[in-house]
Amino acid sequence: MGKPTGFLEYQRVDGACVPPLERIRNFNEFHRGLAPKEQQLQGARCMACGVPFCQSGRMISGMASGCPLNNLVPEWNDLVYHGNWEQAYYRLEKTNCFPEFTSRVCPALCEAACTCNLNGDPVATKANERAIIENAWNTGLIRPNPPKIRTGKKVAVVGSGPSGLAAAMQLNRRGHQVTVFERHDRIGGLLRYGIPNMKLEKDVIDRRIRLMEEEGITFVTNTDIGKDRKAKELLKEFDRVLLCCGASHPRDIQAPGREAKGIWFAVDFLRTVTKSLLDSELQDGQVPKIRGKHVVVIGGGDTGNDCVGTAIRLGAKSVVQLEMMPQPPLTRAENNPWPEWPRVCKIDYGQEEAIAVFGHDPRIYQATVSEFIKNKKGDLTHLKIVHLEPQKDEKTGRTVMTPVPESEKQIPADLVLIAAGFLGAEKYITDDFQVALTARTNVMTDDGGYQTSVPNVFTAGDMHRGQSLVVWAIREGREAARTVDESLMGYSNL
Ligand SMILES: Cc1cc2nc3c(=O)[nH]c(=O)nc-3n(C[C@H](O)[C@H](O)[C@H](O)COP(=O)(O)OP(=O)(O)OC[C@H]3O[C@@H](n4cnc5c(N)ncnc54)[C@H](O)[C@@H]3O)c2cc1C
Ligand code: SF4
Repeated sequence: MGKPTGFLEYQRVDGACVPPLERIRNFNEFHRGLAPKEQQLQGARCMACGVPFCQSGRMISGMASGCPLNNLVPEWNDLVYHGNWEQAYYRLEKTNCFPEFTSRVCPALCEAACTCNLNGDPVATKANERAIIENAWNTGLIRPNPPKIRTGKKVAVVGSGPSGLAAAMQLNRRGHQVTVFERHDRIGGLLRYGIPNMKLEKDVIDRRIRLMEEEGITFVTNTDIGKDRKAKELLKEFDRVLLCCGASHPRDIQAPGREAKGIWFAVDFLRTVTKSLLDSELQDGQVPKIRGKHVVVIGGGDTGNDCVGTAIRLGAKSVVQLEMMPQPPLTRAENNPWPEWPRVCKIDYGQEEAIAVFGHDPRIYQATVSEFIKNKKGDLTHLKIVHLEPQKDEKTGRTVMTPVPESEKQIPADLVLIAAGFLGAEKYITDDFQVALTARTNVMTDDGGYQTSVPNVFTAGDMHRGQSLVVWAIREGREAARTVDESLMGYSNL
């Protein structure tokens, strides 16, 4: 275990961040790591608890507590402390296909469930993970590892997000011939065209894809399955098909004036910005003009926060973020004890930047749009927003956020970004494969499994569980690969 008295001797130290006013000048990652020796002391703080909740990944009160990948956290924290970076990498890659992604974008469920978090600061597990994987890349520990024997079985993976990539890696290493189809021009799913560059620089994805190609995986971009190629064709050509298409159908805001010009869905906006950044350093004129404009983001979640950070980098005059729900408490409520995931108000990087630039938190709680107001040319100019109060619905007994009469007010808005959540899988692909859906329009599978209602068709990731996290997508991709492998070979060693 780290150092028996480490948690008493050493304070948590985080790598420096580029200050908000400086980092908003570009789209680069802004977290800096610690020097290796300093990072080792962070490993020393791990107590190797008898019951390490950090690696449990269990659902408690409907929320995940600890790492969904069951990463062997105390083991590699100890190896970090002893400076055994090579063994730390081998322990880490046993459970996690892509630590370079999770160690950048994961909300660190491990740290929320860390025992040190009960009375102080959790062990810096996410930073330790990043130090291990970057050391492995930099020292040549990560090399192509193609299978020695091919099984002769062919698997198509539709969608190249983290679930599809994790499944492809596992199935290929088992010896199956894997082809990944992606409708966009670049591989990565929301890692590429959702999560902004400042959270995950895209050459981190390219580096991994090159390795997977060298291991024998075929990537086919600009191919929309269900449109460019049909389900029937795929099922004829491949022994198994794994659908990993995400949950990209966005929830709309229905209010008068919705047809006004200047309203974007968040992911369309974020994809346009990242694509333009990668294609032309934002010089191709594809990104809507934001400099000097008033931007309103509808949705107070993480996607909304990414829109705030992106709009600020593009020179917005003001940024407001509307959230329907009341502001969460600043510290855990009594009914939300450790090791549950803490339902507390956090200030994410975009909000931190808004505070630095505009002097206040951009969020307005308990508010939604009641009308989009446009000028004669049809361009959006203002929003009418209304205050909401929680009220019990007599019929269902559920609490719903209800508009308060005469609470409407107008705010300026030249550009609106709708980040109000997602409504499951897109219809054209589920129709083409004729897979059964759940009430939430996720693809239905056998209980706890990945087999869909159609023979030889499997599913994983957001398309299966609904909009979630990268760490869950990787877990689902790995588990689905095992199920596909079992169905092909009669058993699996994955
Ligand atoms: C803006 C944003 C920011 C986020 N930030 C974070 C974060 O910081 N941390 C975190 O853990 N999670 C974050 N998430 C959630 C996370 O990105 C997703 O849970 C995760 O990417 C899901 O992985 P997936 O493989 O299931 O699907 P996706 O990543 O959505 O990938 C699905 C892929 O399938 C492709 N596809 C779909 N249909 C077809 C078709 N018919 N033919 C071919 N290809 C198709 C899509 O183009 C896409 O590339 C964020 C989500 C969003 C929207
Ligand atoms: S994947 Fe996420 S939850 Fe798991 S150890 Fe890494 S940072 Fe923690």
